[in-house]
Amino acid sequence: MSARILVVDDIEANVRLLEAKLSAEYYEVLTASDGPTALAMAATEKPDIVLLDVMMPGMDGFQVCRRLKDDPETRHIPVVLVTALDGRSDRVAGLEAGADEFLTKPIDDVLLFARVRSLTRLKTVIDELRAREASGRRMGVIAGANSRLGGAGGRILIVDDNARQADRIFSELAVEHRPLVESGPEKAMMSARGPVDLVIVNAAARGFDGLRFAAQLRTDEATRNLPILAVVDYDDRPRLVKALEIGVNDILARPIDPQELAARARTQIRRKRYTDYLRDNLDHSLELAVTDQLTGLHNRRYMTGQLDALVRRAAVGGEAVALLVIDIDHFKKINDSFGHGVGDEVLREFAVRLASNVRAIDLPVRFGGEEFVVVMPETELEHAHRIAERIRLHVAGSPFRLMGGGELLTVTISIGVAASLGADDVPDALVKRADEAMYEAKSRGRNRVVAKAA
Ligand code: GH3
Ligand code: MG
Ligand code: MG
Repeated sequence: MSARILVVDDIEANVRLLEAKLSAEYYEVLTASDGPTALAMAATEKPDIVLLDVMMPGMDGFQVCRRLKDDPETRHIPVVLVTALDGRSDRVAGLEAGADEFLTKPIDDVLLFARVRSLTRLKTVIDELRAREASGRRMGVIAGANSRLGGAGGRILIVDDNARQADRIFSELAVEHRPLVESGPEKAMMSARGPVDLVIVNAAARGFDGLRFAAQLRTDEATRNLPILAVVDYDDRPRLVKALEIGVNDILARPIDPQELAARARTQIRRKRYTDYLRDNLDHSLELAVTDQLTGLHNRRYMTGQLDALVRRAAVGGEAVALLVIDIDHFKKINDSFGHGVGDEVLREFAVRLASNVRAIDLPVRFGGEEFVVVMPETELEHAHRIAERIRLHVAGSPFRLMGGGELLTVTISIGVAASLGADDVPDALVKRADEAMYEAKSRGRNRVVAKAA
């Protein structure tokens, strides 16, 4: 997986070195030698990752990082801060500024590529969600992000059989979160399936294989999106590399620094809330966008997209597509005599009957008010006419039972039928023909089907 990486360093030689290493691995590299230029490039070039030197004259790396994370347009871009070798305080300050990851100078190639790979993967997921959210927003179904998504109050699962270490992590995190300790993988797996925001796993546990547990979290449907923080000895290189390969989100070095622990936990939780927010918003809004709330059928918006594709296919020699436009007769009278609630009930009951009387590949839709449409792929006019007649008879022939009680109400419908004509046909024209046919059915006395050949 390739990525565009923005390298920011005031020292020319450092930039060239990183550029050479990354280009050799087929990453696309952009460069900047000061903070303001880096901010401008991040905004216009939209890199996938920013590698940012901390020590720069003028605007330093922390400031650049904070600015990137404050701007909604760039906040999702992962930032790797490049710090001096002993920069523990730098690391804490960097996490506070919103940095996603650290590398220390001189840069270790294995760590560099492991970090870049894991951040590229994360970025791909976030990009996908953001793109879908953006289209949702264009459709007018997602309100802008409203809440500030904080990093405190998280539910953190600590998986560790080293009681002393687990205790220390627990008491540090309990200050601002709700931690929970499990000492074995089976019970931990069960807890992880519950409401959890972050898992901290000891990769060097004695009684179980911490990395195997992390890998298991990644494959289980219920836990695969959980952020994982692995506690690893920086000296244990094979395990460190393995952890990153498995896809843990972050590494915590032993001995654990309490401030660093707190900051890394906060970062992971904030990020999880952001992706959860995007994901929830998306599922909910996509569903709202395409379903009719009263009947649960698909709505007109959804139908338009489907019909466009089917008519286009029919126009280039594909199978014909037929359309029924169905309108309930004298529906106003039902509302007037029994009330709007009963009217709604009739609409719901009719939707159920409609959906259960068409084939699985047909698309029943509430077009608006008391008007429904059925899109029928691979269907000729004659066949659609017969189906329409069957639906009409079924509705008129068995009265609707209302309010769960004994009240029976006879409902009738008028149906117009049309089918695609091939090369020159467009969806609007097809809908219009079926609509005209439906009005003809009304004017010829209602409770009937009219098919319009052209
Ligand atoms: P026709 O046989 O000519 O179709 O007569 P009609 O009374 O069915 O048609 P008209 O278009 O005059 O009236 C439709 C009514 O449907 C008017 C509107 O108030 C009602 N209606 C539209 N949407 C809903 C709804 O969601 N629930 C209820 N209860 N009524 C609705
Ligand atoms: Mg009507
Ligand atoms: Mg009407």
